[in-house]
Formats: sequence, C-alpha cells, structure tokens
Amino acid sequence: MAATRGGGREGHGPDDPRRGLVARAAVGRGRRRSGTITEVSSRSFAADAREWFQVGEIEPGLHVVAEPGHVLSWLIAGSERCALLDTGLGLADISTAISPVAAAPAFVVNSHVHFDHVGGNELFEHTEMHELAPQWIEAGCREAHLRAYRELADSMNESWSRFERADRDGWFMIGPDETMRAWPGRGIAELGWRIDPPRPTRLLADGDAIELGERTLRVIHTPGHAPDHICLLDEAAGILFAQDQAYHGPHLIYEEGSDPAVFARSARRLADELAGRSGSSTWPTACGRRSRRASSASSRTRRRRWPAARRRSRRCGACSESGCAAQTSATSRS
Ligand SMILES: [Zn+2]
Repeated sequence: MAATRGGGREGHGPDDPRRGLVARAAVGRGRRRSGTITEVSSRSFAADAREWFQVGEIEPGLHVVAEPGHVLSWLIAGSERCALLDTGLGLADISTAISPVAAAPAFVVNSHVHFDHVGGNELFEHTEMHELAPQWIEAGCREAHLRAYRELADSMNESWSRFERADRDGWFMIGPDETMRAWPGRGIAELGWRIDPPRPTRLLADGDAIELGERTLRVIHTPGHAPDHICLLDEAAGILFAQDQAYHGPHLIYEEGSDPAVFARSARRLADELAGRSGSSTWPTACGRRSRRASSASSRTRRRRWPAARRRSRRCGACSESGCAAQTSATSRS
C-alpha cells in the first residue's frame, strides 16, 4: 500500500513492500481476553514479554512500559479506560506486559507511526492517531527498517561477544556482572519479525480531547520529527507526554517526512504554550528519551532511548536507575 504525501493510496502492486505485511496480518487472527486487555491477535513473538519489557509505576495511574535501549511507551489510566501511548517494537506482546497493571480496558494512542512506536498495535481493538498518520504508515513501517534495525543489533551483539571473550581472557575491564541486554536474535530468526500496518479507529486533530474518565489528554500536533507526531498534555496532572518531540541527545529528524525547521516551530510552540499555562519556563515531560551515554556512543545509531536525568536519587521502577528521566519528569510538578 503505497502512500503519498497527498494522502492518496494505491493498490498492493507486486513491488509493494507492504504486500507481505498485509498478507501475514490476516493469518492467525483470533481474540482472547487477558484481564482488561482484549487481544485481537494470537501471533507469536520473538521475545518473552515479561523479560523484554520493564514496566514501572511512575505514580498512581501512570506506568512507563520500557524497552530499555529502544522505546518508552506509557500506560495512562483514567477511571474508565487506559491509554497506551505507543506500542513499541513488536518484538514481545505488550498487552501481556501491561495486563497486570492495567486497571481499566486499554486502547492505543500512537504519537506517530514510525515502526518502533506501532509494533504492538494489532493487539488492541481501538487505535487513535493523528489524521495525517494514515498517509505515512507505509513509509514508517517498511520491512527495510526492521532489517536494518535487526542487522545493527546483531552486529552489536557480535562485537560485544568478541570484546567480552577478549576481556575475560585477561584484561578484566568488564565487571563480572556486566553484560549486554539480550537481543532476541534467535526468536527473530525462528519466528520472524513483522509489524502489521496499524489501522486507526479514530483520527485525531490538534486540540482534540481524549477522555479516559476523570482524566483528559489534549492532543498537541507537533510535526517535524514526523508529520503526524503528536504530544499529549494532561493539564490537570501537569504532564506532557512528548515522545519523539523531546529527549536528551541528538534528535532524529532525518526520516522521510522529517523537517528540522518544522520541528523547531513545534518546540517553540510547546515552550510558549506550556510556559503560559504553568507560569514558568519549565514543564515536566514524560517522553521516550535517548541517553547521553547512548548518543555519545554513536549519533548514527538507531533509537537508543534510556532515561537519563540525574536529578532524583531514588530508583525508578522501570529501569532501576537512580533519578532516571522518566521518574524525574513524570513526578515533577511546576
Ligand atoms: Zn519516530
């Protein structure tokens, strides 16, 4: 399904990279219930959800669902339903990960449709995204992205393994407990890794409200990183969910549809609006962040997000790091 900037869709031609994705999406669909999560797919995943995701409570009603080193998704609870902001890489079943902590039925809101934010969409019945998103789904979810991501992860694991072997032979620069976080290469080789095209059930526009029950999220369209990128503002709680609009380190504004000048305008708008609302120039954010550690390792490396701020000393429930950005930002109040 080729998509164009103008929003037109074409049929599935023989060279269409998403033909296979669409065909496989029709296989194995089922429906089962797990707590408050209605799963609409019975596919197998390359990694075990309870090992792959790290779910931590930031405060009552707010959980970070981390794929450390990759993407942070958020489970935002109201009295009637929970919004799952983004669904990650699709390497493990995110519905299983959130099931123990979801106090109400969950649905998906996508910050944008880059593949690493929509990988688990197919597990949920209801999905909301910006009205521009459908025309960018093809560009964001190409199999080439997954192949490049997988090749990079495989090469990093191979490099680490060789370094570790050499170090254990006599240098001892690596501590005895230090190891690389597991990458499910074997599971991917056996089961494949696919991301089915996300299908919206509601299209959002700037200023729209997402009602969760005693909690309202306002949509702020923040194009630049991606044309369809949105932030969600919980004004009553004083939290901005900024995702790829705000994180530490170099910003990734080079994908198809990215525009640095537009990104800067979105950042300016957020600063102006939030400063006006909070009466200060700072506003707490909860976002998928990229660490200084990772960005210094390679500015060309694909998404490497890890909570990084150092302002709090107590440990984060998501990543066990002291004072991580997720904990600091989401628990700060202006
Ligand atoms: Zn993105």
